[in-house]
Amino acid sequence: MSDNVFCNFIAGQWIDSATNIANINPANTNDIIGHYAQADAEQTQQAINAAIEGQLQWQQSGLEQRYSVLMSIGDELIERKQELGTLLSREEGKTLAEGMGEVYRSGQFFHYYAAEVLRQMGETAASVRPGIAIETYREPVGVVAIITPWNFPTATAAWKIAPALAFGNAVVFKPASQVPASAWALTEIISRQGLPEGTFNLVMGSGSEVGETLIHSRQIDAVTFTGSLETGRKVAAATAINLVKCQLEMGSKNALVILDDADLDTAVECAISGAFFGTGQKCTASSRLIVTEGIHDKFVAAAIERMKKLVVGDPMAEGVHIGAVADARQMEQNLSYLASASEDGAHLAYGGEVIETENPGYFLSPALFTHTTNQMKINRDETFAPIACVIKVKDYDEALATLNDTNYGLTGGIITQSLKYATDFKRNAKTGCVMVNLPTAGTDYHVPFGGRKESSFGSREQGSYAKEFYTIVKTCYISA
Ligand code: NAP
Repeated sequence: MSDNVFCNFIAGQWIDSATNIANINPANTNDIIGHYAQADAEQTQQAINAAIEGQLQWQQSGLEQRYSVLMSIGDELIERKQELGTLLSREEGKTLAEGMGEVYRSGQFFHYYAAEVLRQMGETAASVRPGIAIETYREPVGVVAIITPWNFPTATAAWKIAPALAFGNAVVFKPASQVPASAWALTEIISRQGLPEGTFNLVMGSGSEVGETLIHSRQIDAVTFTGSLETGRKVAAATAINLVKCQLEMGSKNALVILDDADLDTAVECAISGAFFGTGQKCTASSRLIVTEGIHDKFVAAAIERMKKLVVGDPMAEGVHIGAVADARQMEQNLSYLASASEDGAHLAYGGEVIETENPGYFLSPALFTHTTNQMKINRDETFAPIACVIKVKDYDEALATLNDTNYGLTGGIITQSLKYATDFKRNAKTGCVMVNLPTAGTDYHVPFGGRKESSFGSREQGSYAKEFYTIVKTCYISA
């Protein structure tokens, strides 16, 4: 920290910038979490230069050193989950339980990739030419730019930083401007691990300056981005011109199908947690609830009864299920989606009210619309809000067609007791992740994660699949 400003971390030094921004708690806008330095293009370039140097050293590091570094980061995140989860909730607005869970999960990502460090195996092959042997193995891709969104400030960073370091890369990390505190806290832990200078750099700053500098750089070897479709397209265009490797995780419009034979309690629990927890601000949230006509009325009545028990309010308070909307802009957008759904003829069956609390903040009660069609704006756009829409359909075939009728394809879920429909759904849902009798949100850390269509581009993140992005295969021919 310098003059009460949280600084960027470049070439192993904490460096202040000409400007800084205030980080404001969305659950209490009187609470300023801190002021965070805003790097400019020049400082971003310094971080890139440092990363180039750092990477040359880090790629020489022994596997046990990498293993120890990643284990140590994971251990500290898990040990400090209460403190760091509180910080995360304070800046993002999700409940303390969700914040702590996210920090714990982030520790697990580091532990998982510590183990992956020791699983770096190559292959050998015979040559078609006698007397020649062939080896293939993976090398680090080089300098990786990591650009993350605000909704999972620690976890998204963790599932990108951990494999980047595990496979011998250097990192330039640009977090979302709304949530610099979690990024800074994670960087502070990484800064104490004895990495070669420049191996890990934090450049907090705007997307238009820091982000644009990174994505247009010809000295960056790979860009991994999670965020909106609009920004993702910019990243894809900028990196394509320079033939820089890129990986994009973007928007979504996930749906949960509920069939006539569904267990009603399971259907309601999966719909409620998938649609509303995390304030609906999850890329895996199910904002569309596609319900067959035989169970429709029972489901809507039971969902409303369940929603009446949800407590919205101070994310730090015990017993609160839904915290704050992330900021004023997001709140405004949520209200405009509520208005648009009503204008399009949807019926607001429950919720959707702005909630006044003791402290000034952005709180919205979860909203359930019925009588909606899949063509309404509210069912086409990614809303990223605690708003769910019921779409009534005749049967399974119509449900599947409706689920697939979207430009996105991240997760899709079905609630049914029918093996036949569950099996068909697993095969034919055009999504990267499929959930059977589970909410659309909630994934594991040791298996691949990603979507189809406009939700994802490039190789999969997480699990052992991450190595496709963070390494390059080398093929060696050896004549004895
Ligand atoms: P966003 O506005 O696209 O921002 C994401 C990141 O990109 C931020 O760090 C942002 O910086 C940066 N950025 C903005 N403009 C840029 C530019 N021109 N060049 C380079 N970087 C730029 O997205 P968001 O609102 O933070 O996040 C919400 C979105 O993330 C939703 O669409 C959600 O679905 C998606 N998401 C997807 C997944 C997934 O795995 N599929 C997971 C989580 C979230 P600033 O903050 O400084 O603008």
